[in-house]
Amino acid sequence: MHWLKLWTRGWLEGSIRFDLTPAQRSVFIDLCALARESRNPPMVQANETTAYPHSWLASKLNIPMDLLEETLEICIKQERISEDNTGIKVLKFDYYQETKRRRSTKAEHTRSFKECPVCHFLVEVSKVTARMEICPQCSKKGKEVTLVLKEVETGD
Ligand SMILES: [Zn+2]
Repeated sequence: MHWLKLWTRGWLEGSIRFDLTPAQRSVFIDLCALARESRNPPMVQANETTAYPHSWLASKLNIPMDLLEETLEICIKQERISEDNTGIKVLKFDYYQETKRRRSTKAEHTRSFKECPVCHFLVEVSKVTARMEICPQCSKKGKEVTLVLKEVETGD
């Protein structure tokens, strides 16, 4: 039996909520589940050298082909997944899985976030969010609020 663990704060408050549509997010989490079921996590693949055809994946997930294609495209662009002829790899799988190993140094106990001082929107600093400076939630309401860097001690 396999379990897909989810880092709920990252899932609820991370950039994925703003970067993907609800449909794309559900396909992304489907891909995470497939990667977890895989014999070779975090790869989604038929076997070690062979990718699943996209048509097989769309059928397996019971979704339209164009939703699969648009999700793969945006997730590759945002470095959430990568794909080659051996399959799809869920990048930052451990980030979503929260299966980080015990860490030894203090620096590794600290994670960097950007937080909005107004609405408390919180996003972890990553390649994707490194350039994000304005709060996307406040920006939707027409306010330009600069995010503030925040170091968070993690319990693990
Ligand atoms: Zn805000």
